[in-house]
Amino acid sequence: MRSPPSVKFKAWPGGRLLDIPQVQALAPDHREAIETVARVLPFRVNRYVVDELIDWSAAPDDPIFRLTFPDRRMLAEQDFEAVRSLVASGDSERLKAAVAGIRARLNPHPAGQTTANVPELDGEPVQGLQHKYRETVLLFPSAGQTCHTYCSYCFRWAQFIGDADLRFATRQMEPVVRYLRAHPEVTDVLITGGDPMVMKTRVLRRYVEPLLDVPSVRTVRIGTKSVAWWPNRFVTDDDADDALRLFEEVVASGRHMALMAHYSHARELQPAIAQQAVRRIHATGAVVRCQAPLIRRVNDDANAWAELWRAQVAVGATPYYMFVERDTGPRGWFEVPLARAVRIYREATAQVGGLARTARGPVMSCKPGKLRVVGVAGAGRDKRFVLQFLQARDPANVGRLLFATWDARAAWVDHLTIEGWDELTSTSTNGGGRRALHLAEGGSHVRLFG
Ligand code: SF4
Repeated sequence: MRSPPSVKFKAWPGGRLLDIPQVQALAPDHREAIETVARVLPFRVNRYVVDELIDWSAAPDDPIFRLTFPDRRMLAEQDFEAVRSLVASGDSERLKAAVAGIRARLNPHPAGQTTANVPELDGEPVQGLQHKYRETVLLFPSAGQTCHTYCSYCFRWAQFIGDADLRFATRQMEPVVRYLRAHPEVTDVLITGGDPMVMKTRVLRRYVEPLLDVPSVRTVRIGTKSVAWWPNRFVTDDDADDALRLFEEVVASGRHMALMAHYSHARELQPAIAQQAVRRIHATGAVVRCQAPLIRRVNDDANAWAELWRAQVAVGATPYYMFVERDTGPRGWFEVPLARAVRIYREATAQVGGLARTARGPVMSCKPGKLRVVGVAGAGRDKRFVLQFLQARDPANVGRLLFATWDARAAWVDHLTIEGWDELTSTSTNGGGRRALHLAEGGSHVRLFG
């Protein structure tokens, strides 16, 4: 298939957001609010999202606008006012200190993201690698730690503000390959970021090719939102065809090649180029599996999810996960109570045919594993959430059921009262078979059954 002519990628960072023509047309106080929040939380948007995905006539209520542009309510009112007045005062030192303080209170590293899962080789940490689940490692290429556009709810937002997370990524594949050879139980490598597809193909190749020399690696996954934020990456970019050839090489090696595509809303699949991107990926033998969090004011609606899953199946992609918004950043603005999340999942599932019912959810990706909220059981004082480990740091816990005290407002595992949690987490082991300590989410008490 021949590619159409190249289209130049253009993005605006937070410091340039007033250059966006559509932003210039917003009311002055709205512009000021966006600029103020963008001093604290990372902002980046590209021209494709601005021109093709956002419905500016519906802003600020448009879901894609909310998915990308800050809202003043993402910060506590006193924090917002403090930043706004410090910007106006021109006192850059005090502004810097205030911003740092606000960021620190927003739990920048949820679930020990940067420390809990770093594996060791010869007594040294393997840079850029995380090994939480026995069969899967996460690989963070240093050149892939940004995104074409930042999601306003991003759970890795700390990476984009110069936080220590960036030092976690790697340029070196030699230690990674040595670790994989020493751990043949690892069959899946998930290349993640940021978004690895921001890398030129020749750079991405440096990370993918060495994996093909490790016989025990059977699946290469790439976590990406480029299919939604910049589908040109697979269609019109200068090296789009090279990327597709790289996928073909992985498939030709007898491995499974999967793009773990982050789609939040059906509109992301409406443009012809977005559908073409998926078709071109599939033509290589790679598959597209789709996942996204359930986000208040963006996609907290059963119809929105049913429409999204139908759109994914229509292009041959597979719905895979509905996640729960994580306990970081502006979670208070975006989180959906678990009770409501379960209802949305069930009502969405009921609307679609069997092939679109493949997404598992709602799922909390927390320290001990991926915990699905299966539903609610009992009534009155016996009412409980039923949870199940879909994936677990200790493989023995996969599939186990947990029961948590009902709480209509609970939106994350640390809002639940579940007996046995401390016992479960203090005795669990991680993917590498080492004993994993200090895994309990703060304040949780879990009852374990099964
Ligand atoms: S694509 Fe993922 S890593 Fe990038 S901004 Fe969105 S949520 Fe964050």
